[in-house]
Amino acid sequence: EAGAMPVRREWVPVDELIGGALTRVQRRLGARAVTVELAPDLPMVAVDPVLMAQVFINLLENAAKYTPATSPVRIRAAFRDQSFVIDVVDAGPGIPPGDTERVFDKFYRTEGAGPQGVGLGLAICRGIVEAHGGRISVENVATGGACFRVVLPVPTSAPGVDASAPEAETSP
Ligand code: ATP
Ligand code: MG
Repeated sequence: EAGAMPVRREWVPVDELIGGALTRVQRRLGARAVTVELAPDLPMVAVDPVLMAQVFINLLENAAKYTPATSPVRIRAAFRDQSFVIDVVDAGPGIPPGDTERVFDKFYRTEGAGPQGVGLGLAICRGIVEAHGGRISVENVATGGACFRVVLPVPTSAPGVDASAPEAETSP
């Protein structure tokens, strides 16, 4: 649960976070064309690199599981209003409109999702993102597919983030 998760923030370049996640799921993404669009001059992000990489691993794993083998995946990162906005966009079937909130629940799987999964990946994503003070949501794209959006505000403690000291709220 988010409240119990120790978040060890470090300064990380956004492209490293995304690149690291992509390396981990590369094989599962197979022949899918993956595009990464980074806004110019993105600042560094203060996150727990292991936890936050897991968010993108889970999202990309889902893109690999629930979209056709040759369908493209786009990752976009921008910085607006003191927040990072990172989208993982696929071109698969999308999320049934009534399920866009519930897919983040533990053990929830949409009807006909197939046998490969227990329904925890997105719940873990939400726990990690919320432990960082951020939000995760999904919308369907007009052209087909799902757009998962992670919004991460700059922590109020920045720029004093110290890699060697846990955040105040996670201290004992
Ligand atoms: P796990 O991730 O624990 O192995 P899972 O993939 O079923 O299992 P989640 O990642 O939490 O669990 O996803 C929940 C459900 O949301 C999935 O079962 C699937 O029905 C739906 N879903 C998730 N990502 C997508 C996507 N990119 N396109 C379509 N449906 C998706
Ligand atoms: Mg999953």
